[in-house]
Amino acid sequence: MALINRLNNMGTKRSSAFAARLSVEQVEEGQDFAPKFDVDGLIACVTTDADTSDVLMVGYMNAEALQRTIETGEAHYWSRSRQCLWLKGATSGLTQAVVELRIDDDQDAVWLRVNVAGSGASCHVGYRSCFYRSVPVGDTSGGPYALVYHEDSKTFDPIQVYGDAPNPTQL
Ligand SMILES: [Zn+2]
Repeated sequence: MALINRLNNMGTKRSSAFAARLSVEQVEEGQDFAPKFDVDGLIACVTTDADTSDVLMVGYMNAEALQRTIETGEAHYWSRSRQCLWLKGATSGLTQAVVELRIDDDQDAVWLRVNVAGSGASCHVGYRSCFYRSVPVGDTSGGPYALVYHEDSKTFDPIQVYGDAPNPTQL
């Protein structure tokens, strides 16, 4: 399966769109966009709200998703659970318009700053941010730990939006 994923992830545009990684100096201090994809052809992406700076989600992109994001200004990801290119909001209408796309020092992680359409939610569970719960740091009980909610209510009803489509959350 991993091999198939790798083959699927090798878009024909990839070799020309992104620079080859030739030296540490080039990657860290140069102007070449030379993203590093992992063995499955993916790069991690953290996405924040351009206005509030809230972390909305963490996703993964393959080369095609990254290039389409650059070309269209709409966030695209690679869905690991569904194994397909994913235009964020294609089903829900909650698209993410990219205000800025940053790459980190060693170019193995992407940061998208976005404006979310519609209700402003980015989480398929219905919350604005996927990070709607926290773990109580400093709890010395030894666990198990109870999660604390930081969003009072969902911005939409997932059943109304997604119907009986399979839940991307996998156990
Ligand atoms: Zn989520």
